[in-house]
Amino acid sequence: MDSIKSAISSNLPLAPLTTWRIGGPAARLAVPADLDDVYRLLSLAQDRGWPLFFLGRGSNVLIDDAGLPGLTLHLAKSLQGLERHGDALRVGAGVALPRLAQAAARLGFTGFEFLAGIPGTVGAAVRLNAGAEGASLAGVLALVRVVTPRLQLLEFCPAELGLGYRSSLLLNFPHWLVVEAEFALTRPADPEVIQTRMRELLQARQARQPANPRTCGSVFKNPSEGPAAGWLIDQAGYKGRRLGDALVSHRHANFILNQGQANAAQVKALISEIQEQVWRTQGVALEREVVFLPEDLACRGGPVCPPLRVGGDKED
Ligand SMILES: Cc1cc2nc3c(=O)[nH]c(=O)nc-3n(C[C@H](O)[C@H](O)[C@H](O)COP(=O)(O)OP(=O)(O)OC[C@H]3O[C@@H](n4cnc5c(N)ncnc54)[C@H](O)[C@@H]3O)c2cc1C
Repeated sequence: MDSIKSAISSNLPLAPLTTWRIGGPAARLAVPADLDDVYRLLSLAQDRGWPLFFLGRGSNVLIDDAGLPGLTLHLAKSLQGLERHGDALRVGAGVALPRLAQAAARLGFTGFEFLAGIPGTVGAAVRLNAGAEGASLAGVLALVRVVTPRLQLLEFCPAELGLGYRSSLLLNFPHWLVVEAEFALTRPADPEVIQTRMRELLQARQARQPANPRTCGSVFKNPSEGPAAGWLIDQAGYKGRRLGDALVSHRHANFILNQGQANAAQVKALISEIQEQVWRTQGVALEREVVFLPEDLACRGGPVCPPLRVGGDKED
């Protein structure tokens, strides 16, 4: 096997790599130089028996105060390809969603505007079918490529991924790394009109959301029916509730803010209190959207693996 191009850092603080600015260090962290490097790093983790974690922009994770064991692959600055191939835009997993929105706008294609205000990467967004303003990635996604821990490259079309509100079958396979996605360029529009629409959406978002950027966005998914999570939390009396420096936003109760030195233990305690109180007062079980690392990474089983379309073992 060729040698790994990226350096592996030891004991690297992860808090600065998350929007919440919370969490302990990674035992080892690497930024893959390219897709071949991804294979080499996955293979190394397997040989050494290291648990494996993926991190994009860290805008939807709560990393434990003890940090992460094993090897963390940080993707926000890797897999940055973005190329047009006919009617498709082929995009690396590390590309930021606002960059994807801008690229589609410049090419004169609508349908991507809602991504301009979501601070995550393509890989994590695909896994969760990220969305906003009534739209989601399902509306523009054409193909997803993932690499499994056994170094298989799999390719899925959206129909195979069971995309729903903040969900996809990929959530059942947390050790599969999304490496690339293709998006359909099917709805031409005037780039100026698209830019104006994006600006309007961003302004509306700024008015709705707290000014403090140290959040993970919505902590809970909205229930499939009935009032939104934020309303339920407000009704349960939790708007403005504080535990240490972790504060339930006054502006949007589904956001928890880090007002300074909040730690993961405090945020987790606040999250469980909210879940318990919303259940007791409103009879609704709120489901977390934010991912707890490392604990949520235990494979959940669940639905059967989506069928394999294009394979290709790559063992080197
Ligand atoms: C201010 C704010 C506003 C937000 N608004 C929205 C919104 O409107 N709509 C919305 O849907 N979300 C929103 N979010 C949440 C978040 O931005 C999205 O969920 C985003 O897709 C997360 O991307 P990330 O790169 O930050 O993922 P991370 O937080 O780094 O990771 C999230 C999960 O994905 C996994 N992961 C990361 N990269 C990969 C990969 N390549 N392959 C497989 N798994 C991977 C991680 O292991 C982790 O389990 C918001 C967040 C913030 C802070």
